[in-house]
Amino acid sequence: MLRLLPALFVLFLAPLAAASAPLKALILTGQNNHDWKLTTPLLEKALTDTGLFTVDVAVSPPKGGDMSTFRPDFSRYAVVISNYTGDAWPAETKTAFVDYVRQGGGFVVVHSASNAFPDWPDYNAICGLGGWEGRDERWGPWIYWDNKIIRDPSPGRGGDHGPVHAFTIDVREPDHPITRGLPPSFRHAADELYNRLRGPAENLTVLATAHDQPVAPASSGRHEPILFTVTFGTGRIFHTTLGHVRADSTAMRSVAFIATFQRGAEWAATGQVTQPVPADFPTATEFRLR
Ligand code: ZN
Repeated sequence: MLRLLPALFVLFLAPLAAASAPLKALILTGQNNHDWKLTTPLLEKALTDTGLFTVDVAVSPPKGGDMSTFRPDFSRYAVVISNYTGDAWPAETKTAFVDYVRQGGGFVVVHSASNAFPDWPDYNAICGLGGWEGRDERWGPWIYWDNKIIRDPSPGRGGDHGPVHAFTIDVREPDHPITRGLPPSFRHAADELYNRLRGPAENLTVLATAHDQPVAPASSGRHEPILFTVTFGTGRIFHTTLGHVRADSTAMRSVAFIATFQRGAEWAATGQVTQPVPADFPTATEFRLR
């Protein structure tokens, strides 16, 4: 009987231990056209508040620095979160990143991380959509919602936004682990509503959109993708366009941002979401801040 114990441990106890082990998350930052020193601790807190993640942060050299030293070991993590847009990574780091995602790694794109690396095709495929930095129709179609998903190859810029404002997010895919149980519409606090993003948009599922009301020339008037997923190889990617923070952290204090980021990170790491919808989740008419 005693000799059976090791086998029993392997069969029954080890999987239980594995199920409760924290998920290792890595935040990439160090350069951004937003305030990464303010936002990185907010992203880290959102992850650790779930009780599911341990978080490491990889800080790149500053803009113009020696990027050859930036070599995070992606393979050690269940999910990698990008809060980075800036100088190109070394070739070895780019290859390791693509291999990590293609072979089943989780990746989360936050707001301006989709602006990064316009000339890196695999990165654009992994993000699904991106904006600015010269992007136009050569990068892929616009994606928006008009009672169904529209893929629009018309020529024009990739990436824009009207004035920062509070807006309502509409769930378009209610039976996805990230959105399951959320109200069909919920209010987000003041943020940029990214519009006209463009990219390969392959294996992309739009989870939620927001109507970009035509209040300014830069507004699109369309229902723009706000939360979406991409698969690349066997990797799962969650992309949130929310989270514009420079001096004011309101966008990342909004529960609409926090809860969908938490759920998206867990899904990217495991393919499932075990977190309950928080009691302070916003309603269709009222945003909530933490
Ligand atoms: Zn922004």
